[in-house]
Amino acid sequence: MQEQYRKFRGNTEQNAFLPLSRPSITEQDIDNVVAVLRSGWITTGPKAAEFEQRFCELTGAAHAIALSSATAGMHLLLHAYGIGPGDEVITPSLTWVSMVNLVTACGATPVFVDIDRNHLMTTAAMIEPLITERTRLIVPVHFAGAPLDMSPLRALSKKYGIAVVEDAAHAVGTTYRGEPVGRHGTAIFSFHAIKNITTAEGGMFCTDDAALAARIRSLKFHGLGVDAYDRETHGRAPQAEVLEPGYKYNLADLNAVLGLGQLSRLGAINQRRTELAAQYLDELKPIDEVMPLAAPDYPHTHAWHLFVIRLDIDRAGTSRDDFMAALKIMGIGTGLHFRAVHTHKFYRERMPVPKGGLPNTEWNSDRIVSLPLFPDMGPADIRRVVTAIKSVLAGGPQ
Ligand SMILES: *Cc1c(COP(=O)(O)O)cnc(C)c1O
Repeated sequence: MQEQYRKFRGNTEQNAFLPLSRPSITEQDIDNVVAVLRSGWITTGPKAAEFEQRFCELTGAAHAIALSSATAGMHLLLHAYGIGPGDEVITPSLTWVSMVNLVTACGATPVFVDIDRNHLMTTAAMIEPLITERTRLIVPVHFAGAPLDMSPLRALSKKYGIAVVEDAAHAVGTTYRGEPVGRHGTAIFSFHAIKNITTAEGGMFCTDDAALAARIRSLKFHGLGVDAYDRETHGRAPQAEVLEPGYKYNLADLNAVLGLGQLSRLGAINQRRTELAAQYLDELKPIDEVMPLAAPDYPHTHAWHLFVIRLDIDRAGTSRDDFMAALKIMGIGTGLHFRAVHTHKFYRERMPVPKGGLPNTEWNSDRIVSLPLFPDMGPADIRRVVTAIKSVLAGGPQ
C-alpha cells in the first residue's frame, strides 16, 4: 500500500499509462484521514466546521456550507428558490449535466445559452435575449479554471431582479478582477476526485446571503434546526424538530479532513498546474491542428482545472473521437469536458435544440479534448503528451 502511494508522487513513469487526472494525496492526507477514523467521530463534526471556516478565509465568502457534492448544493439551491413547473433556468449546454438534470427533475425548464467560442464561458450579452417572465434563475459556469465575466452578469441580475448563481466547480483558487470567486453572491464549488482539491466527493455552498445560508444549512440535514454535530456539541435535544422537509447532503469529517489538507496546499497545487499549462501552451504552439482555449481578456488568476484543446478536424483529417482513441493506444488518457448536455439521449429526444441554435457550443462540441493535467505530473509528462499528439497527427499509430 505504502509503495503504491509513494509512486504517485513526482513525475509519472514514462512507460505507464498517463491518466487524464489523478488526485494529489500526500502521506499527511492519509495520516489525517486515519486520525479521524481513530477519533470516534467520523461523520459531520469539527473537521467539516473547520473546512467551512478555512474556505471562508480563502474566498472571503460570508457563509460556506460543506456538502456531499456540488450537485447536492444545486439541488438545495433549486429547492430554496422554490423552482418548479413553469419556471425557466438559463444555463449553458457545454457543462456537466448536474444543473440541467436537476432543473428538469424538479419539473422546470432548462434554457440553454451559448458560450464564447474561444473561452467556452457564457456572457451577459448571450443570456439577456433569453430572459422571459418565467426566468427564475441564471447559472453560468466558470470554465476550466478561468472566471466568468462577472461584472456584466451582476448588472444583468440587478436589472431584471433574477438571481445569478455561479457554478464554481472548476474555480477553487480562481480570481476575477483581483477577487476570489465565491466572495460575492452565491457560488457552488466541487471537490469531486477530479477537481483541483478533493474530498473524494464533496462540495461547498458559498453565499453572502445570511438567510439563504441558514436555509441551506437546515435543508442539507433533514430540514432540522441543527445537524447531528450541533446536537452533540451544543447539547441540543435529539428530538430537534423538522422545520421543513429537507435532504441528507452533509459532508462527513472523514471527507472534510482530506479537504483541509488539500486546501492548505492549494497554492502549491494551482502553481504546479499553472506551470504545466504554460509548458503545454508553449510546446503546442507550433502545432497548427491544435487550438488551446483562449484566456479571457479581463484581469484574472486561472486555476487551470483543465487543459482543453480544440482539434482542427478539417486540417487534422481525423475526428476528435479517433484522435482520443489513438492517444489512448499511445498510453495517454484524455477527457471530454463536456459532451454538450443537449446532445445526451434524453435531452436530444425531449427538448431538441435546432441545429445552429447554439453555434459555438456545437462547434466546440465536435472538437474539444482535455489533455492530462494534475499536480504530480512533471515536464517530461507534458513532453510525452505533445510528442504523442505530433505522432498521431503525422498518421500513426492507428
Ligand atoms: C464536477 C462538476 C459538477 C458536479 O460536481 P459534483 O461535486 O460531482 O456534484 C458540476 N458542474 C461542473 C461544471 C462540474 O465540472
